[in-house]
Amino acid sequence: MNLKKVGILLLTGMLFCTGCAERRDAMQKMVENKKMENRHEATTFAMDTIMTFTVIHEDGDEIIIDAEQEIRRLENILSITAENSDVSRLNAAAGKEAVSIEKDTQILLEAGKELGDIAKGTFDIAISPVVKAWGFTEEAHRVPQQAELDALLELTDPDAVILEEGRAFLQKEGMAVDLGGIAKGYTSDRVAELLKENGVESAIFSLGGNVYGIGKKPDGAQWEVALANPLDANDYCGLIAIENQAVVTSGGYQRYFEEDGKKYHHIIDPATGYPAESGLLSVTIISESGIEADVLSTALYVMGLEEGLAFWQEQGGFDAIFVTEAGEVVATEGVCFTFEGQDNDFTYRMVERK
Ligand code: AMP
Ligand code: MG
Repeated sequence: MNLKKVGILLLTGMLFCTGCAERRDAMQKMVENKKMENRHEATTFAMDTIMTFTVIHEDGDEIIIDAEQEIRRLENILSITAENSDVSRLNAAAGKEAVSIEKDTQILLEAGKELGDIAKGTFDIAISPVVKAWGFTEEAHRVPQQAELDALLELTDPDAVILEEGRAFLQKEGMAVDLGGIAKGYTSDRVAELLKENGVESAIFSLGGNVYGIGKKPDGAQWEVALANPLDANDYCGLIAIENQAVVTSGGYQRYFEEDGKKYHHIIDPATGYPAESGLLSVTIISESGIEADVLSTALYVMGLEEGLAFWQEQGGFDAIFVTEAGEVVATEGVCFTFEGQDNDFTYRMVERK
């Protein structure tokens, strides 16, 4: 080994050691900051997805455990696959009899029906038979025949989901409800409520991408949520600043399968029984209500850009960001959005209220 090489080795060794020390200092600072801020973080798996929590509160760890328990309670009654859940019992008794359901299930079914009506049927609480036919319920993907879909579409009428006090009934045999497009949003509202009841004034949590931010960050700035780049899992399109708001994204890129070179995703257009082809890659909704954000992200994905924007103009009460197949990121004027498109080819446009 010549001297020059030894010199380089020594130098890199020294750099490495300084790097180590700096990293250690930075880590130490982070730990101290966390302690000062009372920052508590946790990750868990529930409702078939990863959930993360950041809670700023001296009893943060205990509060997160309470939140997790509430999530598991809701999962047990709302899951479409757990045998004894309200949803499974309701689906099994379709066309036969009414079943008793918990208050939460009642609220969810009512809200699903009502918001589905407002969204002109693009969100359909009774879409399950079609979702199942595509194999998304049991992850046994297949492309159904048109005749099969036509027959199943006869069973997806939300008006045939009958609700009475504490009970629900699906009028036709073969009907089924699927709360996959609404349950996490509802759960995020419940968790936000629970955190606030426990005195939490600053927190952010994500239930598999259903994000909710309470108050502001400890440094006084708003919480920021990255808008995913639907074309690249390692990239993002910008940052959404929120305060006491939910952010929910629906996108064909989130769950899909491929057959004969064609992609089929999990958001079904109730008018056709096929995965929605609306020219969108994703829709993100920002709203004070998690359940509304969850329903509308699915509904506006089915509607597409033009109809979605018209719906926003008409309804208000929420904001939206559309990412289109044509390469546009379109945000409604109320979103506090920083577009960061340097690393991708998207262009940005903001839409004002008429
Ligand atoms: P999301 O990820 O919130 O957009 O919800 C998608 C999930 O909701 C799917 O995985 C299905 O379980 C269900 N779903 C699909 N299409 C619809 C629809 N048009 N209306 C209601 N739920 C749907
Ligand atoms: Mg949804």
